[in-house]
Amino acid sequence: MSLLNETHAPELRSWVASANEPGTDFPIQNLPFAVFRRAGTEEFFRGGVAIGDQIVDLGMAASRGALSIDALPFAAACGASSLNRFMAMGPGAWSKLRLALSRALRTGAPERELLGACLVPQSQAEYTVPAKIGDYTDFYTSIHHATSVGKLFRPDSPLMPNYKWVPIGYHGRASSIQVSGQEFRRPLGQTMAPGKTQPDFGPCQRLDYELELGIYVGTGNESCTSVPMDQAESHVFGLCLLNDWSARDVQAWEYQPLGPFLSKNFATTVSPWIVTLEALAPYRVPFARPEGDPQPLPYLDSAANRAGGAFDVQLQVLLETERMRAAGAGPAQLSATSYRHAYWTVAQLLAHHTVGGCNLQPGDLFGSGTLSGPTPDQAGALIELTSGGKEPLRLPDGDTRSYLVDGDTVIMRGWCEQAGSARIGFGECRGTVLPAMEA
Ligand code: MN
Repeated sequence: MSLLNETHAPELRSWVASANEPGTDFPIQNLPFAVFRRAGTEEFFRGGVAIGDQIVDLGMAASRGALSIDALPFAAACGASSLNRFMAMGPGAWSKLRLALSRALRTGAPERELLGACLVPQSQAEYTVPAKIGDYTDFYTSIHHATSVGKLFRPDSPLMPNYKWVPIGYHGRASSIQVSGQEFRRPLGQTMAPGKTQPDFGPCQRLDYELELGIYVGTGNESCTSVPMDQAESHVFGLCLLNDWSARDVQAWEYQPLGPFLSKNFATTVSPWIVTLEALAPYRVPFARPEGDPQPLPYLDSAANRAGGAFDVQLQVLLETERMRAAGAGPAQLSATSYRHAYWTVAQLLAHHTVGGCNLQPGDLFGSGTLSGPTPDQAGALIELTSGGKEPLRLPDGDTRSYLVDGDTVIMRGWCEQAGSARIGFGECRGTVLPAMEA
């Protein structure tokens, strides 16, 4: 488990002035990773770390010797077009590079001149998916989401009897995961309207988003081995924001008996920045089960997990419609919640994923599942906020939404904030719905 160290000290300041501004997502205590290049150029994509409104070009920092010597091989590994090699180096490497960056970016650091020449403004950057994602697994860790969606799909048995015992998930599609800014066409598919005997084929009529966190695997495990709870977090590189776009009408018809398929495989959007578990250390909270619920089986339990296996990440979903854009109005908030309400922790997901001998690889991605909180206004998807489309949301300009319409942009934000710690943020995860292809 990551503990607090000198890199978390809330009083640290950087010689990058924008990193010291209150409310910035990227103070010196955060140092999240992305893969970027200057927008509109043919430059190679390469790894970088956010500081204020700048990006440290890590490969350049390595080649110019702008960091302490023991961290240079790790910075050099980040110079590649994906972070997989750095992820595979393990938590010792991640931590050494973080410490070297923290020291070199502090006010008064002698590296200022050399490292200052390795900065690229975020306003000039474009990003790509930061890892080559071999496999993507989407979980279902909010009991509040599982219960309210279950009520809509199966009023007689909303929460399946397995839910409180086994972390539910399905193997998703990696090829359609793109970085924030993704634009995708409304999917086509089969739907079965109530009372009909034959399905229709055409554009999805119930397009939804899902507010999730993504979990990047750092180091993998050999096949036919499992990762015990006490080691699970050392295999996790960090977290990002994730939008699991969902075609609800397609999902309702196809999901039994093997689970979601085309309703989920057309697009998934991730934020460019990965916030490391080490950066999140101040925001750990205890994992506890509500009274009367079963305790996890021993392979999903550990003292460290009970003490601090959950994370208090504040999450927010906003909608920007074409009408809002035309009026120059800002986006409207649809809901807000925290990751602390999840029923299973990061460590439990990784331990469970491997318990049967499944090998994980560096860069594999887990989705947390829709992160709905306990109250209705904390719901992480429209299907819940509108009670299955029956109670449309009223937007500030008088417009209404049951589900997403063409031109809608969904924006997700995440951050951690508490007295006595530096506020850190995840940046943004943004995606836009385009009209469907011809049926
Ligand atoms: Mn999902």
